[in-house]
Amino acid sequence: MSIAEKIIAWQKKHGRHGLPWQHNITPYRVWVSEIMLQQTQVTTVIPYYQRFMSRFPSLISLANASEDVVIEHWAGLGYYRRARYLHLCSQVVRDQHNGDFPSNADELIALPGIGKSTAHAILSISHNMPYAILDGNVKRVLARYHNISDVLTGVETMRNLWKIAQTAMSQTECRTYTQGIMDLGANICKRQPLCDLCPLQSGCKAYKYNTQGNIPNKPRKKLKRTETCYFRCYMNSNRLWMEQRPSSGIWPKLWSPPYCTTKPCEKTRHIALASFRHTFTHFHMLVHPIIIHTVDPRRNTGGAWFALDQAERMGIPAAVKKIIKSIQHETKVS
Ligand code: SF4
Repeated sequence: MSIAEKIIAWQKKHGRHGLPWQHNITPYRVWVSEIMLQQTQVTTVIPYYQRFMSRFPSLISLANASEDVVIEHWAGLGYYRRARYLHLCSQVVRDQHNGDFPSNADELIALPGIGKSTAHAILSISHNMPYAILDGNVKRVLARYHNISDVLTGVETMRNLWKIAQTAMSQTECRTYTQGIMDLGANICKRQPLCDLCPLQSGCKAYKYNTQGNIPNKPRKKLKRTETCYFRCYMNSNRLWMEQRPSSGIWPKLWSPPYCTTKPCEKTRHIALASFRHTFTHFHMLVHPIIIHTVDPRRNTGGAWFALDQAERMGIPAAVKKIIKSIQHETKVS
């Protein structure tokens, strides 16, 4: 049996079958799921995907929406550049491809925010075409199977992995194979692999030489800096003051209480809430929320008052959602 045949047989029996993007398969639905799943776990993505799809059921509805509304429906998923590219890409497909994704790899890769692996996922899953994907999960499976101990970011190593991925690809059951190798990476060949449940065990070199723990060989991560930020949660009755963030920098276009790195001065009467750490790609933010009761926050930055339950429904990042929960808790107990 070839690798593809083993993976396909395993997927049919043990793979994931009920994921929302596995129904009514279209290039649009596959594309949105692929972008959401970058850097994000399936269980986190599912509710976001469902909400996004009910608001933007077609590519045209997404392309015609304003960026603010798109960001609002992405709020909480993080890595906001993905949402902006998603929106931009939908407009390019609407304007340059009559609203239909091209069914050719080069044209797909030329679209904003679509890399080779995403393009191939669209082709293999929605059109059942033999284009291999190479996301993080697949890299791990193939690198272990072939006992590739090099750092996986090298150009030569990546070229080799693409060759291996394309050779392993099924020529007939492309959709099932792609889903299968993703499922295998997510559920079996994970960081602590479950080799005894793996359909590839008999041919796997990492299993043979017991090197699974060293593969994938990742370059050492740089230590992230930590920035301490004080979130001034101005409260007027039960309403919170929030401002929309600029379109560049962190949390573009999302809503948040104003924050800065300076502590409130001793004279400002405030209530300090529990602090927590929020992690971005390049740094950790130590979030110190403080409640300041006032009728006038003296800000000339175009913010507005929001009832707490309304604030929660705005386009807000996950850290602000946490702050609001904490304010709700505080105002209930006090
Ligand atoms: S045998 Fe183990 S290391 Fe090899 S592909 Fe399967 S789960 Fe991964």
